[in-house]
Amino acid sequence: RPAAGQRDTAVFDLIQEEAQRQRYGLELIASENFTSAAVREAVGSILTNKYAEGYPGKRWYGGCEVVDKVETLAIERAKALFGAEWANVQPHSGSSANIAVYGALLSQGDTVLGMDLAHGGHLTHGSPVNFSGMRYQIVGYQVDKDSERIDMEQVRRLAHEHKPKMIIAGASAYSRIIDFAAFRAIADEVGAILFADIAHIAGLVAAGVHPSPLPHAHVVATTTHKTLRGPRSGLLLSSDLEIAAKLDRAIFPGHQGGPLEHVIAGKAIAFGEALTPEFKTYSAQVIKNAQALASEFQALGYRVVSGGTDNHLFVLDLRPQGLNGTKATKALDAVHITISKSTLPFDTEKILHGGGIRIGTPAVTTRGMLESDMPKIANLIDRALRGENVKAEVHDWMGGFDLP
Ligand code: PLP
Repeated sequence: RPAAGQRDTAVFDLIQEEAQRQRYGLELIASENFTSAAVREAVGSILTNKYAEGYPGKRWYGGCEVVDKVETLAIERAKALFGAEWANVQPHSGSSANIAVYGALLSQGDTVLGMDLAHGGHLTHGSPVNFSGMRYQIVGYQVDKDSERIDMEQVRRLAHEHKPKMIIAGASAYSRIIDFAAFRAIADEVGAILFADIAHIAGLVAAGVHPSPLPHAHVVATTTHKTLRGPRSGLLLSSDLEIAAKLDRAIFPGHQGGPLEHVIAGKAIAFGEALTPEFKTYSAQVIKNAQALASEFQALGYRVVSGGTDNHLFVLDLRPQGLNGTKATKALDAVHITISKSTLPFDTEKILHGGGIRIGTPAVTTRGMLESDMPKIANLIDRALRGENVKAEVHDWMGGFDLP
């Protein structure tokens, strides 16, 4: 801790303010969570002082004997957690991991088949404003109009028509199980690489409550800070050692310099936590809470995209209520309920606003909420969307839940 009088109060006062916001607010952003104190301690540790370009045992800098052990621990735990032959724990974020995948396995201009952003995909899966859409030829697949589930027949048709070099299976706003085996079958039919981006569902996969992509995908990328509940960062996994060697080179020296060993230590701790039976119980509860909350909204007359959820999130279509994502986010922010706006499949709202909101349960489940707490969340959101000021009620209620 800094000595008294040497504390940069301008910054630390803001950290205190944010701590209050996190303690008393109702956090429903599907991609957020609360890490353990142990993860935060590692990320805030003196490991940040160390340069360590390269990999354990093969560094450009001296004095890496300790961080070598830290990084090896993180790698071994990641491999055990996901049942992979190889892991790279150096990506600084989910996007950095994805940039390395493209860089390692494709040439500029190659064709990639990924999920449309508006249907639940991620910016790095081919958005025209992202490196992926700027450097590669992107073909987007969508969900079926009626079921609002990934249209695997369309994926197959587009794969045969466009012969992509890589197919991406993964999403940021999709509430149903992703059938990685079906994606691999299609990839094999056209000789494509299958890339699974499990940024959102990694914790569920690690806990065994969502099918794993690992027997099927050539390469898997993820963030570590969503359902996996680690520090804000990325991870690459594979069981194909030829592809793994290319990915190692793509991370360093291809796209990154010195790894963040303090964050890697935080990842090692989070992977250790995710290997415990408590994490399995937590992850199962995340899904039970999401399903209970989606049902509560349906009982209140809201339309849930695809009619429900199999994972940690769902999307509400707010157009029937005369709202859009921007209006809803503003109304909920005002009462300290945080969600993210979302586009809808076949949306009729401007993309800037989105026709709905995405709601996730990883954070409230970490705070100890159960299915019995979900009716109150739905009730608070419903009243806030109708213009009622429920802020004091939110603060009062959330103050009673623990934070790690
Ligand atoms: N991939 C998917 C599917 C995501 O949902 C996200 C984050 O939202 C990312 C990649 C990018 O992760 P980051 O924000 O750490 O760059």
